[in-house]
Amino acid sequence: MNNLISYISRQWNYFKNRFFNIVGKSQLNKFMKHIILFGPPGSGKGTQAKQLEKKFNMIHISTGDLFRYEIGNKTPLGIEAQAYMDQGRLVPDEVTIGMLKNRVNKHPEANGFIFDGFPRTIPQSQALDQFLNERGEELSGLISLKVDDEEIVVRLLDRGKTSGRADDASEAVIRKRIEVYNDQTAPVFNYYDDKGKAQEVEGVGTIDEIFNRLSSTIEAL
Ligand code: ADP
Repeated sequence: MNNLISYISRQWNYFKNRFFNIVGKSQLNKFMKHIILFGPPGSGKGTQAKQLEKKFNMIHISTGDLFRYEIGNKTPLGIEAQAYMDQGRLVPDEVTIGMLKNRVNKHPEANGFIFDGFPRTIPQSQALDQFLNERGEELSGLISLKVDDEEIVVRLLDRGKTSGRADDASEAVIRKRIEVYNDQTAPVFNYYDDKGKAQEVEGVGTIDEIFNRLSSTIEAL
């Protein structure tokens, strides 16, 4: 009799766990997919994120765009950020993290976020993980667009002719941004790679080709 009860109880636990696992995971995927679109300046994150947000019905958050909006409105945050951006340096973590959280909290309806230009340092990555954790969520994955440094310089100088962005106009500032990326931001890839969450996608090709590569990577997450 005892054996029968223990057998039934084992079977029940097995099915219960399987059921909640399947339901739990599919709900997580369906409702909350958070992605970091990663890569050096000028790797095409912004261009791709604008299309991906429509396809996957997610919210695109670019910290660079948020800073430029603040600068345009001459807010205290914008004035502080501009001094760093004009030199190709990173805005301090506390400022950036606070701004990012505010933006996320403005979208309670979101299916998920595409983070573009964030996190750019290890402390920003830790803050993002903790923030998502407090919401009972987690990052689905980081996808890095691979483009080499010399191609980046060419692309950014070209973008500078029309973007009106001060940080695209000078080769010295562009090279500083690449240096900052290699020193402070590239380690973010390893941080998520250690958690089995980082992937690389070829960032050279037509916009459509890269979009298709990114879409299939996101679908598989
Ligand atoms: P790009 O990727 O072409 O460098 P962005 O628009 O993402 O352009 O960023 C422009 C500038 O804004 C950066 O060089 C940096 O000064 C600032 N910035 C953007 N995101 C961050 C961040 N997460 N942390 C610190 N500074 C940032």
